Amino acid sequence: MVTMSESPPTTVIDMGAHQLPEEEMGSLTSERFRQLAELVPLAGDEGPDLQVVSPGTGSLLAEYPHGSPATVSKAVKRSRRAQQEWAETDLTERAAVLMRYHDLILSYREEILDLVQLETGKARKSAFEEVADVAMVARYYAVNAERHLGPHPRKGALPGLTSTWEHHRPKGVVGIISPWNYPLSMAITDALPALVAGNGVVLKPDQQTPFTALWGLELLQKAGLPLDLFQIVTGKGSELGTPLIDQTDFIAFTGSTNTGRIVARQAAERLIGCSLELGGKNPMIVLADAHLESAVDGAIRGCFANAGQLCISIERLYVHQSIYDRFVKRLVARVSRMSLDASLDFEADMGSLSSRAQLEKVETQVLDAVARGARVLTGGRHRPDIGPYFYEPTVLEGVSEDMEICCEETFGPVVAVSPFESVEEVIDRANDSRYGLNASIWTSDIEVGREVAGRVQTGTVNVNEAYAATWASVDAPMGGFKESGLGRRHGAEGILKYTEAQTISVQRGMPIASPPGVGEKDFSELMSGALRLLRWIPGLR
Ligand code: NAD
Repeated sequence: MVTMSESPPTTVIDMGAHQLPEEEMGSLTSERFRQLAELVPLAGDEGPDLQVVSPGTGSLLAEYPHGSPATVSKAVKRSRRAQQEWAETDLTERAAVLMRYHDLILSYREEILDLVQLETGKARKSAFEEVADVAMVARYYAVNAERHLGPHPRKGALPGLTSTWEHHRPKGVVGIISPWNYPLSMAITDALPALVAGNGVVLKPDQQTPFTALWGLELLQKAGLPLDLFQIVTGKGSELGTPLIDQTDFIAFTGSTNTGRIVARQAAERLIGCSLELGGKNPMIVLADAHLESAVDGAIRGCFANAGQLCISIERLYVHQSIYDRFVKRLVARVSRMSLDASLDFEADMGSLSSRAQLEKVETQVLDAVARGARVLTGGRHRPDIGPYFYEPTVLEGVSEDMEICCEETFGPVVAVSPFESVEEVIDRANDSRYGLNASIWTSDIEVGREVAGRVQTGTVNVNEAYAATWASVDAPMGGFKESGLGRRHGAEGILKYTEAQTISVQRGMPIASPPGVGEKDFSELMSGALRLLRWIPGLR
């Protein structure tokens, strides 16, 4: 393991993708990867296999099928057939699968931690966030699906004469498109509520992280999910996205805002619903009365968890001018001591970036900012001595609006810190963004924290935490304002979006029309009187 304060050598690692030796695969083997690849349905016209290169080392991890539009059709058909019976299965049985999954994922966590690390290059503690997240979401929907799905009795049109119920029917087959940054969480936690609501699922994980998703599917089958209900198709988003959207009944997309627009256009064309969980440029505000050490801790978690490749991570850090110097001094001292590594243990503070494309994006934004006058307080260097895509955790000062890093998502371990004078000013600056995903406020006064939070235009706001408090409160909705998304995951919205609401009413006694022998004029008088009365009767209005 290497710490930030050690200087990098000048040699660059050879980027040729040789096979990763089995002894560096932790609890996995090449045979295990072949088993997982066999879960992918094949239509017979797939292209030459695709490869996963392990970002921590740049070595070839394994190969998997290059799916075609025909593969997607086959997967959707299989899932649709299995869904008919699944929708008829008692909800308690469906929920029991999720609870068994909860137990299994905790028991099998060492293997999935190895796999997530090998596929993404992330530190093990960031991989564990995914295991905990999946367990929490599985438990939540296992216990609460019935409460959300109903049927719920509703107030009928005519008290005593109309009985009304709200039901939620499964959409059918839900398509899920997921990114590489949290490959277990993003692939599986959106599938769980869809499944327990009675749907089939066809998932297209990111090209870089198919094995983690396949592992998640295999474990669901072990937990008792019917074999064909949940399908995974592997390949390129540009090739499989359109056929998936064309054949499914709802699409849950997580990824970049640019791709989200493409997905939304195609869903609109078919008049199917979609949820979009997109990018962010998330602010953290440290008020003058914040507990300094806790806020520094929070900033480190918020900015550098998963090497900043987290949609809700902090990229803009605003600190009140009265504590700015002390805060920045402590932050820089702590960040410069962070350890970098992707070994399969809990030792490292931060892992690798996940690809060459991510590394290039981060380097380009930092170089542009520095060329335009930003100052690097710590970090700012590529570290090929540790692994091909490692980049130091970086704190920048003096970032201005003419720099790309000021407003565009970096999705890397870089934060821009700046002082502010007044709460009004910092709220305006926090809200001056096309994104609106997550924000963080630090203060000793909880009431002030909640009041400021209410004025920030983001879907989640954490007071005295960076992102985990809202994310892990899975009973509450999570998603973005503005260009950060459409719809929500978690809570009631996270499951009801996968259903069609159906209202069933039973009318007794008299019709909702003038009864025989009563003229329309008299009926209108009668109804007006009844409506006037209802306004005053608690429980009926
Ligand atoms: P991306 O949009 O490039 O890819 C995401 C997924 O979309 C991948 O599976 C990809 O194969 C697929 N895809 C690509 N082109 C497609 C197309 N034309 N049609 C259909 N699918 C297509 O995103 P990325 O860069 O891999 O992921 C990082 C982004 O995801 C960041 O912007 C991050 O903020 C965002 N993200 C958001 C959340 C959230 O909850 N809001 C969570 C994680 C990541």
